[in-house]
Order: sequence, then structure tokens, then C-alpha cells
Amino acid sequence: MDRKHTHRGTCQICGSTQAVDIVSGKLAVHGYTVKWGYFSGTCRGSNSLPMQHDRTRTDEMLISLRDHANACDEKVSKIDAGTFRPANVRTGRRIYTGISNPATTVGSNYQSGWLDEEIPFDQAMPYQQQQAIDSLRWGFINEARGCRDHAKMMGELADQTFGTDLFPVVRPENPLEGYCSGSHKPLSKKDSHSVYGQCPGCGKSFKAFRNNSLHPVYQTPKHK
Ligand SMILES: [Zn+2]
Ligand SMILES: [Zn+2]
Repeated sequence: MDRKHTHRGTCQICGSTQAVDIVSGKLAVHGYTVKWGYFSGTCRGSNSLPMQHDRTRTDEMLISLRDHANACDEKVSKIDAGTFRPANVRTGRRIYTGISNPATTVGSNYQSGWLDEEIPFDQAMPYQQQQAIDSLRWGFINEARGCRDHAKMMGELADQTFGTDLFPVVRPENPLEGYCSGSHKPLSKKDSHSVYGQCPGCGKSFKAFRNNSLHPVYQTPKHK
């Protein structure tokens, strides 16, 4: 199952570098790493071809990011024209429900059992209504900016990456490969007054390493 990959490639969705499966040529499953909170969990670019070989999924995402940014702009315009209002208004009070409920989306701390109290917009005080409108407006502005920044970054990355080679994985050579398995392991059967002992691999007798002039280290030297 744990096949050693020989190359790494760029994720079409998040732009991170991930292992490429030798057989399928697709990227390993990985989490979404861009931190502005629009996606989370497993990256949707998992199990897709790397950007070096395919940019279809990136291009689809660029379109949806720009569409989403435009939709946010429209909402800001409607808010400014007074035709779009939040349904509910937060009162600033927090209510302890005692119930941990991951299914609800109300409140930022929903899993702890605390909820932000909300009332219908029409029942709120004018200053609460204004705060709710401002917060909604800035939320859409930030979301639009986040989408456009991400689209720009990923579009540029795809332009630079598509059609280029995957990154070869360079593994450090095992310095003990080809040597006795007892190499660098503690000497066995070492008598307490001697720096000599036996290799735990082949049983040959060795003098312990001396890693500085004062103290020997009771380790088997590297040998064939
Ligand atoms: Zn990804
Ligand atoms: Zn040995």
C-alpha cells in the first residue's frame, strides 16, 4: 500500500506540492491548506492529475471563484441600494445551550454549546440593524477580494506550471546500505573492562568507536 512515489506535482486546486501516485499518476489525498476559510477538510484536488499535466480543474475553479466574487459584488450593490438586508441580527449576547451541536451554523463557537443570540432584522434596534448591515457588507467585500486574490494566484501558478516536468523525489542514500546489519548498533557481549565487543549482526569482534579522544562509544563500526 505504501508505494514509494518518485515524483511530486502541484495540486490544481490549492497549489501545494504533493506526492504523485506511481500507478495512477494522480495526487495523494491531502488537506486544504489555503487559510482564508472558504474551503476546508480534504482538498478537492486530491486524486486528480497534477497541474503539470492537466489544468482543467484549475480553470473551472477560476471561473467559479470569479463568478462568486461577482455575486458578492452584486450583494454589496444591493446592500448599498437598500434592497438586500440581513435576515437576522446578532444582539451581542451569547446564549449557553449546553448542547454541543456541530450541525448548526449559527455562531462562531457553535461546537462549544454557546450560540450568538440572533433576532429578526425588523425587531432589532436601528444601531443593531446598522451594525448587521455593515458586517454583512464587509463580509461580502472580503469574500470577493479573497476569491479574486486566490484566482489570480492560481491562474499565474497554472500559467507557469502546466506543461512543465514533475519534481523528482531525491531520497538520501542509506549510508549503511550494503554493509552488515550490525553496523552502528551497540556492540553485544562487551565485557565491562574492554572496548571490544561483538557485532550484533555477524558476531565478529570489534573495537568500539572512539568519537572523541576521551570516551569510546560502544557501537559497532561500519563493516561489510
Ligand atoms: Zn490541493
Ligand atoms: Zn557485523
